Amino acid sequence: MTMVRQTRQRQAVIEVLRASRGHPDAAWIHGQVRGQLPQVSLGTVYRTLDALVRDGVVMTIERAGQATRYDYKHAGEDHHHAVCRGCGAIFDVDAGAVPSIPAAALPAGFQITGVRLEFMGHCPDCTSRPAQDS
Ligand SMILES: [Zn+2]
Ligand SMILES: [Zn+2]
Repeated sequence: MTMVRQTRQRQAVIEVLRASRGHPDAAWIHGQVRGQLPQVSLGTVYRTLDALVRDGVVMTIERAGQATRYDYKHAGEDHHHAVCRGCGAIFDVDAGAVPSIPAAALPAGFQITGVRLEFMGHCPDCTSRPAQDS
């Protein structure tokens, strides 16, 4: 594989994620990218996403038993997520609205490069429906 192709795939994945305000999984991203680059495989999309996560361009939301969701870091900002345990909806939470973690709680000398918080609960839609959650 050539650098040029890798760059185009990377750019296509970034554009799909940037345009999406949802939190799609790799299969959905693959479907969108194939609209532009029909030859791209799902494996390539996974590898591209892994590289973007390593580079800090994309963040992940992982939940046991479910496909990892991906999110573009708009303006390079970290944000947090609130995940509904009823319907699985994912909401963005402004990192600026959340108090910072006291450094004293961390191992001595630990260098913080990012903070990720996940709030679990039920969204307004699920709260107004009869409970089905276990
Ligand atoms: Zn919900
Ligand atoms: Zn998000």
